Amino acid sequence: VHGRREKNGKVLPCRPRRDFPVCEHGRPESCGTHHDRDDPQLGQPLCMDCYDYRNAVLWNAHAGRLWREFTKTVPSVFARLFGVSRTELRRMLRLSYAKVAEYQARGLVHFHAVIRLDGPEGPTDRPPDWATVPMLDQVIRQAAQQVTVSVPDGPRSSLALGWGDQLDVRPVYVSTELDGVSDQRVASYVAKYATKGAESAGTVDRPIRNVWDVTSLDVTEHARRMILTCFILGDLPQCRDVPLRQWAHMLGYGGHFSTKSRHYSVTLGDLRQARADHRAAQARAILGLPDPAERDTITVQDWRYAGSGHRHGEAFWAELARQRIATARKITRERAEQVPADGTSSSTDEQCRDVLAD
Ligand SMILES: [Zn+2]
Ligand SMILES: [Zn+2]
Repeated sequence: VHGRREKNGKVLPCRPRRDFPVCEHGRPESCGTHHDRDDPQLGQPLCMDCYDYRNAVLWNAHAGRLWREFTKTVPSVFARLFGVSRTELRRMLRLSYAKVAEYQARGLVHFHAVIRLDGPEGPTDRPPDWATVPMLDQVIRQAAQQVTVSVPDGPRSSLALGWGDQLDVRPVYVSTELDGVSDQRVASYVAKYATKGAESAGTVDRPIRNVWDVTSLDVTEHARRMILTCFILGDLPQCRDVPLRQWAHMLGYGGHFSTKSRHYSVTLGDLRQARADHRAAQARAILGLPDPAERDTITVQDWRYAGSGHRHGEAFWAELARQRIATARKITRERAEQVPADGTSSSTDEQCRDVLAD
């Protein structure tokens, strides 16, 4: 698919190839474009006839199952690594999970998860000293590598689905007081990376009843093919257990967008709030508005008295600016009072700018 690739803040060509190969359908298999972040081509296959829609839909349909298998595998990998039984491990520490599903531009889901390590009593209890972040990191990588789910892809054949190699593990250190603030931090961390729902993959937000409705949907051609593939696979006997038709508008993913284990102390309400806050912040950034939350939450460690009023001749410039603005406003007001009847007057803003520029 077309993708935006970046290295050290520089945008790289999408899929450069010196030999300019073409697929069997005569379409280029390379792309030299430096895609913009909002390029509608992003996530679209280079050739829709070559793209493996069946496997893409099967991935979405079973990704939730793969996640559940993963959460079951993590404790066994942990136990094996430390040579203890799973029962013994449960007496020493508690693992909890919160995950959010996100669609990539190409319409495949991936997960953002927080995996939390506590003492056996939960968030108020410290984990044993040997259970460190690097250990957890190793456990996550091993578990992610070994876990697979078997998916029927034909009358007598099956496909093994596993995680790809794009695994990014980052430590989130919460404060040692184990207070509520740290949960907020975890929630906003997850929300920051998980703000794209299915609509960002170019699909629709409601179930599609009939396959003939698919042709008239206002979606990208790529999303339409994903949806059609859900309908086609949903009719096959080997996919009987997967309600693909009901999930077609989700491009096959029928799992929950956010789940957490029972003991996880971040509530989904926290996550939703953090997600909403993040979206609002993004909107404010686009509109160039200040962030009210930021003003309230910035913690300044160290205040020093630097003096009061203007320093080093600043007063002169401040007074000059004040006079200019006052004059500009006055002239604008006067001009507004005598608007010519022919309607050729420039806008108030323009007049104000003209005066200030003089
Ligand atoms: Zn491209
Ligand atoms: Zn092709």
